[in-house]
Amino acid sequence: MERNHDVALGASLGNGKQLSYSHTNALGSPKMIPKIPGLLLGLDDSFRLSLRPELRFVEWLLRFMGNSTGPAYRRNTLQTLALANESRRAIDRLLERHLIEFDRRKVGKLVLLRGRKEVQAARASMELKQKAGLRQNLLSAGEAAEIEPALVQSSDPLTAALYAPDDETGDCNLFASELSALICREYGVGVLTGREAVSLERKAGDTRVRLDTGEILSADQVVIASGYCASQLLAPLGHKLPITPMKGYSFTAPIGNAPPQVSITDSKRRIVFTRAGDRLLVAGIAEIGRLNASVDPARLESMKRSARQSLPEAADYSKVDAGWAGFRPMTPNSQPIIRQLEPGIAVNAGHGMLGWTLAMGSADRLSQAVAQH
Ligand SMILES: Cc1cc2nc3c(=O)[nH]c(=O)nc-3n(C[C@H](O)[C@H](O)[C@H](O)COP(=O)(O)OP(=O)(O)OC[C@H]3O[C@@H](n4cnc5c(N)ncnc54)[C@H](O)[C@@H]3O)c2cc1C
Repeated sequence: MERNHDVALGASLGNGKQLSYSHTNALGSPKMIPKIPGLLLGLDDSFRLSLRPELRFVEWLLRFMGNSTGPAYRRNTLQTLALANESRRAIDRLLERHLIEFDRRKVGKLVLLRGRKEVQAARASMELKQKAGLRQNLLSAGEAAEIEPALVQSSDPLTAALYAPDDETGDCNLFASELSALICREYGVGVLTGREAVSLERKAGDTRVRLDTGEILSADQVVIASGYCASQLLAPLGHKLPITPMKGYSFTAPIGNAPPQVSITDSKRRIVFTRAGDRLLVAGIAEIGRLNASVDPARLESMKRSARQSLPEAADYSKVDAGWAGFRPMTPNSQPIIRQLEPGIAVNAGHGMLGWTLAMGSADRLSQAVAQH
């Protein structure tokens, strides 16, 4: 069931279009703690933290800080990598069985690194993930430009780049709509749209879902997969899910004279570039603690500036669209919550910065959790 008129119009609509199996670094890390005062003061255009006077939010923040130690960062990054690997295998299996057109491109990913500190941190994270089997290499600026000639346009010199050849891009919204149509057509599934679930209760061995229309649906098993809203539905049943929204932005523009083919993350500016046909998509910005869903023109402008500094010829930045903002459902450990909470009620939410990348492996884990119960 979906409250919008169609599926995948939430965070999945305007995201970065990356199946970023390599970029599983947890948000909470030892680098994060000393940055917190600056984030609170709004000193970083690409990452902001606003305090909310709610116990739930304070608890989330404390748990996030608890997950920002070195051992927690490494554990969380590797656990997300394991789920990303499962997802890659699961999407391959799905696409062997069914033709789903979603502009899939196996283009690889480059993470641009500037300065010695960035390179040191990237090397450490690469070595950690290589031990877990990830194909990722540290390249010199020259080697990176051989893989992606569009990099030479940047006036901000590169020190090095991380390259992950197995990362992909595609259209997340199209993938979700095509998958939804496929399961309805071939597996007898029904998708209810335009209805909102307002409450849940367990009664006589069933789970009952009350809708905004007043209807009540009964089922043996309900799965809550409503992104950052999942906690609201589950809290009255005593399930406190630590999920908080982290606002992000994206825009598209017509490609310019030198658009990249490879998917790119500029780590200093915290933006990603993805080629989508004759347009370039740029996504980024992290705002924790903001609940307003509208596109703030000043924030969009700052992201446009960053993109122009990073890859000035990649797009025609004078023709940027109106932009989009969405909420990443963040957990303190950057891992989704996938489990049977009680008989008849399961959850699959909190996929944070990588919800599309992790989707197929999460679905596999969910079906195992439900089957075991
Ligand atoms: C700027 C940005 C860039 C990103 N880039 C990437 C990327 O490149 N690659 C990647 O893998 N991930 C990326 N992400 C993250 C990814 O988009 C999210 O993790 C993912 O979309 C979360 O999916 P979801 O289905 O859990 O939530 P959503 O996509 O938000 O879907 C939740 C749905 O539940 C519905 N809903 C909520 N409450 C109810 C209710 N009570 N009743 C009925 N329906 C309800 C909502 O309407 C919504 O459609 C990005 C996110 C952002 C914001």
